[in-house]
Amino acid sequence: MEVTPNHTQTVSGWAATDESGKVAPFIFKRRENGVDDVTIKVEYCGMCHTDLHFVNNDWGITMYPVVPGHEITGVVTKVGTNVSTFKAGDRVGVGCISGSCLDCEHCARSEENYCDKVTLTYNGVFWDGSVTYGGYSGMFVANKRFLVRIPDSLPLDAAAPLLCAGITVYSPMKQHGMLDQRGAGRRLGVVGLGGLGHVAVKFGKAFGLRVTVISTSPAKEREARENLMADDFVLSTDQKQMQAMARSLDYVIDTVSASHSLGPILELLKVNGKLVLVAAPDKPVELPSFPLIFGKRTVSGSMTGGMKETQEMMDLCGEHGITCDIELVFTDRINDALARLARNDVRYRFVLDIGGSNARL
Ligand code: NAP
Ligand code: ZN
Repeated sequence: MEVTPNHTQTVSGWAATDESGKVAPFIFKRRENGVDDVTIKVEYCGMCHTDLHFVNNDWGITMYPVVPGHEITGVVTKVGTNVSTFKAGDRVGVGCISGSCLDCEHCARSEENYCDKVTLTYNGVFWDGSVTYGGYSGMFVANKRFLVRIPDSLPLDAAAPLLCAGITVYSPMKQHGMLDQRGAGRRLGVVGLGGLGHVAVKFGKAFGLRVTVISTSPAKEREARENLMADDFVLSTDQKQMQAMARSLDYVIDTVSASHSLGPILELLKVNGKLVLVAAPDKPVELPSFPLIFGKRTVSGSMTGGMKETQEMMDLCGEHGITCDIELVFTDRINDALARLARNDVRYRFVLDIGGSNARL
């Protein structure tokens, strides 16, 4: 039986209160640490483009004040009496989801992300009706089921974006067979080289895929090839380059945060190729039927990942030494970082230093 939470703990964070695109310091309450809960001192929090969509109310569903942040890493400070798997001092993380019914077929398969009653880590509705607040804050109370252990080999700052960007691309890559024998040597296209995209490139290379980056930013070509080890780079605004790649890819992951057409991207797929849309632009993407039917191609979607899969991804990253390319941001520069994220000026993820060793607040 769930215990009624008392929202008594005072926490400092940063919230957007309107559609101005900015956050400001914000004091709020979190629940007491319940029997199944773990309290975390937040050290780092990645800045996902979803944070920007919510801050700006791009999707028309923001419940202000919104405290963004769902790429949270930190250290356990307290555990409830039913918690035996975590203890004070453990290095842990919380991603996009922090609650679900734990009872339905999806929860039974650890696909908590597809539970009808899933609670988002922020701008979600907790079971007592309160609105959830995310990781742009000093402390977080998480149910043990929604906590991820961070391997000792991974730094807490560069691992933080794995909790959303990482699992969001890992889950469909695994589901579509890109990460097993079926995938080796096959060709993956990654559209949009941002937070999600750069991790998709890293996973692709780690699992033996040939990876093509499809980007609007010529300036990213060199680093995509040299730092991320991408095999090919195609400028999506150059029709000749796009035509030269027609029918060459087995899979595409689309991470473009702005409205766009899937038509030119579908043309890059072989017959029977698969496009996974993980991006969530504010306006519907255009889906012309010709490139779809002429190539018997498939378009599907995917939202973050389940908890078992998230831990599996994190452990694999620990084994393979996969981390994100980040730029650390002090908390007095959050709004600059949000503005730069809005104009596609980030390589490849901003991570807020909230309580890390160099934190300023
Ligand atoms: P990001 O770091 O801002 O990267 C998005 C990339 O899209 C940019 O790097 C850019 O790549 C491309 N892009 C941006 N504006 C563009 C424009 N006007 N036209 C064409 N390309 C443009 O964002 P992110 O954090 O990776 O998130 C990407 C999207 O996924 C967002 O919509 C986010 O809400 C969504 N998301 C979904 C899930 C899920 O569970 N499905 C989880 C997390 C995020 P180039 O410079 O290479 O063109
Ligand atoms: Zn995210």
